[in-house]
Amino acid sequence: MLKTRLRIATLFGIPVRIHISWLFIFVLVTWSLAGNYFPARYPDWAVGLIWFIGILTSLLFFGSVLLHELGHALVARSFGVPVEDITLFIFGGLAQITEEPKSPGRELLMAGAGPFVSIVLSGLFALLHLLTRTISEPVAALALYLGGINLTLGLFNLIPGFPLDGGRVLRAILWAVRRDLVVATRWASRAGQVVAYLFIFIGVLQAFSGNWQSGMWIVFIGLFLDSAARSSYAQVGIRSLLDGHTVQEIMSEDCTLLPAQLTLDLFVEEYLMHSARRCYTVGNAGQMLGLLSLHNVREVPREEWRNTRVGDVVTPLDRLQTVEPDTPLWDALQMMTSEGVNQLPVVDKYGNLLGMLGRDNLITFLRNMSELKGQTRRL
Ligand SMILES: [Zn+2]
Repeated sequence: MLKTRLRIATLFGIPVRIHISWLFIFVLVTWSLAGNYFPARYPDWAVGLIWFIGILTSLLFFGSVLLHELGHALVARSFGVPVEDITLFIFGGLAQITEEPKSPGRELLMAGAGPFVSIVLSGLFALLHLLTRTISEPVAALALYLGGINLTLGLFNLIPGFPLDGGRVLRAILWAVRRDLVVATRWASRAGQVVAYLFIFIGVLQAFSGNWQSGMWIVFIGLFLDSAARSSYAQVGIRSLLDGHTVQEIMSEDCTLLPAQLTLDLFVEEYLMHSARRCYTVGNAGQMLGLLSLHNVREVPREEWRNTRVGDVVTPLDRLQTVEPDTPLWDALQMMTSEGVNQLPVVDKYGNLLGMLGRDNLITFLRNMSELKGQTRRL
């Protein structure tokens, strides 16, 4: 798998990563600072100085984004909410906070911490600008730009559309009023979509009035916000449906035991083609060798199916990510997504196979639950 994120540091025990798309935006920002912004305002600067200040300003800008995310992350952690990492990517930064906050008050503080950091930084850079104005023009220029950009960053994130920080603040308020996280998320996400469409609209207007580059950029931010609003809402919805349910409620227990000497062509013809069953174990009396998946079969060229036994290609259980019967369904879904697998073997604490949890089990469960919920709402 292509590695698209690179770990560059660890701050307060939180890994800091940069996504490959960040390199593009870093080059773009540096380029526009050194190629346009500074030369236009300070025409008597030498080329070397322009590039030095340009790169330094760009680095400090992304350092500011990082501090904004660290603001969210440290407040989250002080509430005992785990923070997986902080990633810098094309649209800024993202603190991976995998759990939803426990109360509206905490959500408010977690969401507000980032913009608060940005606005404080803006004030500090403004102060630095005032102090260095008569001493060093380059430092004062750098501080002026960073003061402005941090103010923009703080205010932009306060726009009340989920999942922007301001949208989270809005959700916290709605949550406090309505006492229902899912309903609050639905409204905050809709606000997020409205904001996203406004961005797209403004971007298109800009593009057609001749400001092609910045117009397209605003359109892209709008599209990103729209998809983020939709998926954040879907995630909260799914989570509320899965809440309180565990793997054992929906796992399939009807696994077929295959003899190890069965050849792949016979397996495909006689088992795979004739049943919708997805769980196949391989073993002989009293000895379980492991699990057979479609993936194992596909790795072998078709012409060799006749000479290959399932026992030769089976994946041993201890090489697979497994879940226990009392694992919450939400955790199991997260695991499938992060591991990129469609099924997870369910084992007891002694390592015995009890059944299989497939993505299809989860989908059926979610469909039934959401239909039931719709029913009770209509009643
Ligand atoms: Zn933020």
